[in-house]
Amino acid sequence: MTKNLSENLIEIEKYLDKYKNKTLSHFIGGKEVMSLSGNTFENYSPVNNEKIGSIASGAEEDIELACDIAKNVSDEWRKTSGKIKQKLLHKIADGIEKRAREIALVESYDSGQAIRFMSKAAIRSAANFRFFADMAPNASDGKALPADQHLNYSIRQPIGPVGVITPWNTPFMLSTWKIAPALASGCTVVHKPAEWSPYTAMILAEIIKEAGLPDGVMNVVHGFGETAGRSLTENKNIKAIAFVGESSTGSQIMKQGADSLKRVHFELGGKNPVIVFDDADIEKALDATIFMIFSLNGERCTSSSRLLVQESIKDEFVKKLCERIKKLKVGHPLDPETEIGPLIHEKHLKKVLSYFDLAGEEGATVKMGGKAFSINGAGNYVEPTLFTDVKNRMRVAQEEIFGPVLSVISFKDENHALEIANDTQYGLAAYLWTSDVGRSLRLSHQLDAGMIWINSENNRHLPSPFGGMKASGIGRDGGDYSFDFYMETKNICTAFGTHTVPKLGK
Ligand code: NAD
Repeated sequence: MTKNLSENLIEIEKYLDKYKNKTLSHFIGGKEVMSLSGNTFENYSPVNNEKIGSIASGAEEDIELACDIAKNVSDEWRKTSGKIKQKLLHKIADGIEKRAREIALVESYDSGQAIRFMSKAAIRSAANFRFFADMAPNASDGKALPADQHLNYSIRQPIGPVGVITPWNTPFMLSTWKIAPALASGCTVVHKPAEWSPYTAMILAEIIKEAGLPDGVMNVVHGFGETAGRSLTENKNIKAIAFVGESSTGSQIMKQGADSLKRVHFELGGKNPVIVFDDADIEKALDATIFMIFSLNGERCTSSSRLLVQESIKDEFVKKLCERIKKLKVGHPLDPETEIGPLIHEKHLKKVLSYFDLAGEEGATVKMGGKAFSINGAGNYVEPTLFTDVKNRMRVAQEEIFGPVLSVISFKDENHALEIANDTQYGLAAYLWTSDVGRSLRLSHQLDAGMIWINSENNRHLPSPFGGMKASGIGRDGGDYSFDFYMETKNICTAFGTHTVPKLGK
């Protein structure tokens, strides 16, 4: 049964007790340890910007320790049979399901994401582990490629210890999306969670320990990107970096990893168009548009932050949008009624607010919202915001705002829609609303985006490829695509004994 805000507030106190006036440790080699320097940093809740607790601040020496251990146990973990890996990963999923309520509450309080979404994210995280658990026994399977007088066959082998670096939006779910396939592949892991949302990473570490994963196979080092993150990307024992975050950070990581020739997988920013044609199911398109920009506080890489609407229906669509935006419930993230919670951090709030000023300066209209506000005198709350009269070259239409902010741009016809949609540095997702099947297919093939949803919001299917083009990413996740990243493909070519080997120096 769904609990109300007061009940949730009472329950979360029980979990926060573990963190208040304490220092959250790293998890290295199966042990909870502080930074070798003893350094810490503070973590705050977006609900009131009050300190929740302190966090061990990792530096090069802590990363080195974790990476050395991850390397030392790497051989043992790669040789562990797929069946055992499968069993262990299912045990981790069991542990997540058992603590799903705690994970959802802590994540919600730490990140500001509404509990209605975080409870689903916790369950989805268990599903991530189960999905990749069942792929573990066959992860090393390759292809049989018979040739003339030779048989080629390929196998896959874990690449070795990998670094996983994650952001603060839905941090628990995103980390499981990386860590589960890495472990299923046979890689050991050093995870560097985002500094603004560190708690649930340690809940996962506790669950993993309890499930019986050998010590050192999964490690967590907290800290800032420029210190702990940088050291992880430069460490010689780390063979690959799975990174989710901003495009500019991805570019930085690529440079940092260049000397040690790191394999990288990047899931980066987006400025995704939702394109609504006049023949679409308008009510459904409206639901999806609102859901994809205002759920998860708009702090979502796949958010539909640019609404491209056909001129003939623009006024009607915007009118309906305004009516719905007026009714969106912004509130305490632990209130089950809340649809939009506070933004993660005061700094991020400031960034989002700067776009409210910019919109006016650029000649757009702030049609709805456009202000910050507090609840009981506190919190990083912003009104759900709608910009109209937007031209696609304006910064509000080009830059990732990462908040509950939607820019409306109108288009004349299919070609015009395509031109606007592709006129951005990003290429993560695109959403198409039309009843013309031919048009939806024509556009899908021409849109610069790694993922296209036709007449749908972002519906995820774990075996399907997830990722972006252009500045939105490198590589794909999901199903077998994840294994291709965490594993090396080896080709073995055996002769039938019938061919002639060239003779030199006769
Ligand atoms: P960010 O790039 O600032 O930080 C992400 C992580 O990188 C953090 O853990 C941070 O400490 C670390 N980091 C920062 N600098 C680093 C460096 N020099 N070396 C190594 N690590 C470093 O991103 P954020 O603000 O935490 O998250 C929001 C961004 O993430 C948005 O751009 C969003 O679109 C993106 N995102 C993308 C996807 C996707 O699947 N494409 C999913 C979620 C979020």
